[in-house]
Amino acid sequence: MSFDIDKIRNDFPVLGEKVYNKQLIYFDNGATTQKPSPVIEIINKYHSKLNSSIHRGVHFLSDQATNDYEDARKKVAEFINAEKSSEIIFTSGSTGSINMLAFSFGEKFVSEGDEIIITEMEHHANIVPWQMLCERKKAKLKIIPFNDEGILQTESLSTLITEKTKLVSVIHISNTLGTINPIKNIIEIAHRQSIPVMIDAAQSIQHLSVDVQELDCDFLVFSGHKAYGPTGIGILYGKEKWLENLPPYQGGGDMVDIVTFENTTYNEVPFKFEAGTTNYIGAIGMAEALRYIESIGLENIGKYETELMHYATKKLKETGIVTIYGNAPEKASILSFLIDGVHMADAGMMFDKLGIAVRVGTHCAQTVMQHFNIDGTVRASMSMYNTKEEIDYLCQTIHQVKAMLS
Ligand code: PLP
Repeated sequence: MSFDIDKIRNDFPVLGEKVYNKQLIYFDNGATTQKPSPVIEIINKYHSKLNSSIHRGVHFLSDQATNDYEDARKKVAEFINAEKSSEIIFTSGSTGSINMLAFSFGEKFVSEGDEIIITEMEHHANIVPWQMLCERKKAKLKIIPFNDEGILQTESLSTLITEKTKLVSVIHISNTLGTINPIKNIIEIAHRQSIPVMIDAAQSIQHLSVDVQELDCDFLVFSGHKAYGPTGIGILYGKEKWLENLPPYQGGGDMVDIVTFENTTYNEVPFKFEAGTTNYIGAIGMAEALRYIESIGLENIGKYETELMHYATKKLKETGIVTIYGNAPEKASILSFLIDGVHMADAGMMFDKLGIAVRVGTHCAQTVMQHFNIDGTVRASMSMYNTKEEIDYLCQTIHQVKAMLS
């Protein structure tokens, strides 16, 4: 299909809304994306016509829900080219997935003195769970730095790795700098020393093609709501050989085989990691969102968003009053910036009143702000439904904001 921006925008009802009597311009896609009609419709349909508990019932509705939930698992597997759908575990999102892995992997494979390697540009979701693990196990967290352009210093990985290193966990696209990290290279370096690698694909899955077999990553996570799907759902992908060897994270219904007061045996993978009633409607909604992405084509989306990013970078620079944080050559459509002499929070408030939704603050990446010795930035993160006209309006308002506030 060709890239029809008008049709795409029509698919997202919220884009027609006004805020403060101004046409909404939504540039907060890094936080969460808007939902297209097919996703909204399938969630409504499930709540109004098909709601039922999965894996447990013997009746029509339960059968249907179970089938659709397992089809959603197949869709996710296909989308990231996992070898088997059983390698997909449904979770509450990227944060839930990383906490699950940090607990489960940590319980089995991490001991006192061991090391986990992450990067300086991680979202808090890929820092804190590993820090908590390190505290529990008296292990050590090591950091791959980035330079002032926002480029990861991948060459330092080989020297950071020791015989004590148990896992490397890396953000694919920085939610703050926009940097696209060379994850294939990172995985190759780590695998040379037989160290598994987890990829945080929360910001990449909706922008570029991610093939877990081609990358050969051991684990990968993403969230539905950042990829046009619902909130409260995401996945942890793990190679079968790892998932078979990891202990469950939570106990409860559905994750068990036989329960007695003396002992419990667990269900097979992936069910042993899905305790309790899962967010099955979320999973079905997320699969619909992936189908929607496929209907537009990831390559078309990536091309369009890259064009938007280059246009926005040029336009922001042309204002002459903006500093951009994150200037890596390989970059996604995420722009963090500050207007000279204007506090980010004031700028955010002004943008809001003019109908523009941006994020201001640390973007859950305080260590990135510490690198630049700043409190935070304004972040405009663009998606397939944004336009050059919206970018022009943002740049015009930057001058207005500067005039009023500096
Ligand atoms: N990782 C990255 C790179 C993110 O940008 C985010 C959210 O902004 C997360 C992880 C956490 O995602 P969630 O809040 O959906 O669990």
